[in-house]
Amino acid sequence: MSQFDLIIIGGGPSGINCAIEATARGLDYILLEKGVLVNSLFNFPANMQFFSTSRNLEIGSIPFISHTDKPTRKEALEYYRRLYDFYQLNVSFKTRVDEVHKKDEAFEVTTSKGIFYAKYLVCATGFYDHPNKLNIQGEDLPKVKHYYDEAHHYIGQKVVVVGGANSACDVALETWQKGAEVTMVIRKPALYDKVKYWILPNIENRIKEGSIQAFFNSSLISISDDKVDIKTPKGIVEIENDFVLAMTGYRPDYALLSAMGVEISSDQFQTPKHNVENFESNIPNLFLMGTVLGGLKTSKYFIENTREQAETVVSTILKKESSQWKTPDSC
Ligand SMILES: Cc1cc2nc3c(=O)[nH]c(=O)nc-3n(C[C@H](O)[C@H](O)[C@H](O)COP(=O)(O)OP(=O)(O)OC[C@H]3O[C@@H](n4cnc5c(N)ncnc54)[C@H](O)[C@@H]3O)c2cc1C
Repeated sequence: MSQFDLIIIGGGPSGINCAIEATARGLDYILLEKGVLVNSLFNFPANMQFFSTSRNLEIGSIPFISHTDKPTRKEALEYYRRLYDFYQLNVSFKTRVDEVHKKDEAFEVTTSKGIFYAKYLVCATGFYDHPNKLNIQGEDLPKVKHYYDEAHHYIGQKVVVVGGANSACDVALETWQKGAEVTMVIRKPALYDKVKYWILPNIENRIKEGSIQAFFNSSLISISDDKVDIKTPKGIVEIENDFVLAMTGYRPDYALLSAMGVEISSDQFQTPKHNVENFESNIPNLFLMGTVLGGLKTSKYFIENTREQAETVVSTILKKESSQWKTPDSC
């Protein structure tokens, strides 16, 4: 039987960090990852650059060397491969968690590779697998993408970029620079005010000079093979179109969280219930780590500001374990 002290779900930066801490402190654990090592980062845009310095992304006391002040995706993948190798982490890749049930004192975790059991569970599943849908006609056409890889596909093409935050601005600029005809459709009256300071003036100037067309206070209302309809303050505008890149953000896997019994706040952020001191959810012995903690407030947590969580979670687990073994005399 596959029985462990701890099961970690998700092999992103948070899950890896937790696995390193569990290794260092002698917990018998397994990390279950549905894809490859740091699967979300692997699927980020090919040319993405982090906004953090490499030093601020370091975990496990292993230096992260980068050639510039902001590391690239390629450098980050190398770094996580090194961590995996150095700590000999116990990871089962291509192992998707489908169901979790608590049976007596143990969690029964059903995956694409069989059933695993553990007394403690960490859910570090992020949010990158579940894009916010436009919910409009034509969204399921192959020309509509919720993930962006690189600009080469879009050279000489008419591209609509939906959204006005960091990813949308990056994608609009990169595809325009490589030769796409770019139109942005932005629900709000302006671009997101926290767009990276080295990107914002660039995109604003491209819009001002008309190189990139932008519709503010507007939304896409339907997509067909060669056109899109945009609802603007001046009425419906139909434009020719080859690709729609919907950079409309992502959301945690609420179906999995609910199936685990994790309560979700009823406000606009739909935050999974947790103790802010030690990240334990409303289900005893089930901890949440990383970006999943923020619910729909997906910019609240990122690698840099979640690095301390692993130490807290593993210490809490070890404290719980040691308190169970104390006899009344030793208390
Ligand atoms: C363009 C871009 C730039 C960024 N730059 C920075 C930066 O400079 N600094 C910074 O700190 N942060 C940055 N971030 C944010 C950072 O990438 C995320 O905060 C980080 O990836 C979150 O880590 P995580 O482990 O919580 O989630 P994730 O990295 O999303 O990992 C979750 C993992 O869980 C796995 N998983 C999900 N569901 C299941 C399941 N059912 N069964 C098994 N496995 C599952 C996924 O495959 C994935 O590997 C950036 C993000 C983007 C998109």
